[in-house]
Amino acid sequence: MSESCLNVFHRKKFLSDLSSQKVELLIIGGGITGAGIALDAASRGIQVALVEKSDFSSGTSSKSTKLIHGGLRYLKEFQFSIVRETGKERTTAYNNAPHLVHPEKLILPIVKNGTLGWRSTSFALWIYDLLAGVSKKDRKKMVQKKEVLELIPQFNKHNLVGAGIYSEYRSDDSRLTIEILKKAVSLGALVFNYIEAKEFIYDNGKVSGLVVKDNIENKEHCISSQCIVNAAGPWVDEIRQINKSLGKKRLKLSKGVHLVIKNNKLNLKHSVYFEADDKRMIFAIPREGKIYFGTTDTLYSSSIDNPKTSKQDAIYLLKCMNNAFEGINLELSDVISSWVGLRPLIHEQGKSSSEISRKDEIFISKSDLISIAGGKLTAYRTMAKRVVDLVNKKMKFTANKCQTKKLKLIKLKDELNVFKSIENQLINKYNLDENYAYYLWTRYGLDSKLIINKNPKYSNPFISIIINEFDYCLKNESVLHLLDFLRFHNARVYFYPQSISEFINPLADYAKEKLNWTEEEKLKEINSVNKFLKEAITFE
Ligand code: FAD
Repeated sequence: MSESCLNVFHRKKFLSDLSSQKVELLIIGGGITGAGIALDAASRGIQVALVEKSDFSSGTSSKSTKLIHGGLRYLKEFQFSIVRETGKERTTAYNNAPHLVHPEKLILPIVKNGTLGWRSTSFALWIYDLLAGVSKKDRKKMVQKKEVLELIPQFNKHNLVGAGIYSEYRSDDSRLTIEILKKAVSLGALVFNYIEAKEFIYDNGKVSGLVVKDNIENKEHCISSQCIVNAAGPWVDEIRQINKSLGKKRLKLSKGVHLVIKNNKLNLKHSVYFEADDKRMIFAIPREGKIYFGTTDTLYSSSIDNPKTSKQDAIYLLKCMNNAFEGINLELSDVISSWVGLRPLIHEQGKSSSEISRKDEIFISKSDLISIAGGKLTAYRTMAKRVVDLVNKKMKFTANKCQTKKLKLIKLKDELNVFKSIENQLINKYNLDENYAYYLWTRYGLDSKLIINKNPKYSNPFISIIINEFDYCLKNESVLHLLDFLRFHNARVYFYPQSISEFINPLADYAKEKLNWTEEEKLKEINSVNKFLKEAITFE
């Protein structure tokens, strides 16, 4: 059993060790921003720890459109630096985690009377490729109506002129965050979920530690650190408030909703980025036999912890899809799941949420708390580099230069053969097909082998493999709740919600035994999964 802070059976020991030492850098927030900073710091030899109040990626970093993209729409706003940086980072993300970041062609339809004309689209995509340094073979292509309809036969023919086809990447935001944290831990970082930053400790007016609460054991600890970074996403201002450093520049949160449907009414094989009737841009993306689409972009000021998809949000998105695709007649009852995320944007006077820049910004308080807000999933690595460069300089550490550009998140060797052997074992041992191999591979990469190497324990092979997967997550990803496992570690609640009733009871029994739950705690865990599944398709 691996000795690691990400192994739930060693969590207590590692946490108590952390309380008795002083680290060089302490990060608040286990979303993509915090994870990226932890990896950058650990890979430069900085002693780093990270605390996350819930599960890793449970904030915005599990609720995005899941694209590693250059942000085509930022061209319209002349935000060339964001397009250049995120455009280039796409390839880096792909090179470092090809099991998690997949090349994806996006189809951008051009319609009569739309904002996008043939020439302007062709020009914009040309600049987009140029800024991002896209290789010749992957550069944009303009196609006529006939070819668009061959690719997306159900797209509304009325007014269709043609399309631009360009290259982006697709990923899973939660998995990317978790894999980055795992890599950081392998390089010496100490990272903990369910540890909430409550108060700052000061030394001569400067932050020198945190009082944190273990939300599992219901216990407080103190952690000392030379430097603290606040990477709490939508909660950044809450943390600045605790630090009494909330300045004039504050966050504006914007809500973004995605809905998931089966592919029975719409058989979509390619990702489409289309303009809705109100001129907003909507993504429709096929994934694992389902289609997800979104997003809305509306200013938000209610509870950060529990944003909800309103009926108005859901109806709006269904209407956009029904207008874009012919005869599909999507209704609320077609939705099998949904998620809603909050973009942590930095307030700009007089601008609507869709006009506010997605650029990240760093704030340093009088007590030297460093806060980072804004930004994109795609640019996590360069954001992290900027923060760690700053920490290094400010604290006069003598850390190495940034190492992450060529740092692989998983060991990669002979991928195709490994994938084939996983597939063969799944067929022979578990009677499961290549779709299951794909499911495991795109989540756990080479570690899929650890999941399938064990012999099936249950007469039902599907239940056996799920329990092996849970066991892997207990020991390598600090999974502490059933709902976390199904939301953040494998996204089953979003893409395979119907499968959950098949295994939830034996899985809960297994978890009860391993995590010493009482019968009451076990039932509470099952209820929270069922409640989540219900709420993800109930819109009020
Ligand atoms: P978060 O992921 O929210 O992480 C902050 C963490 O801090 C949370 O996990 C929270 O629990 C924790 N925390 C808060 N308070 C405390 C505390 N007191 N103690 C300990 N921990 C605490 N970007 C892209 O590149 N591509 C996309 O396709 C894309 N699509 C998007 C679609 C939508 C609808 C939205 C909302 C955003 C999208 N983005 C996309 C942007 C991207 O998702 C975000 O920029 C990114 O996920 C923000 O990550 P973060 O780590 O800063 O915040």
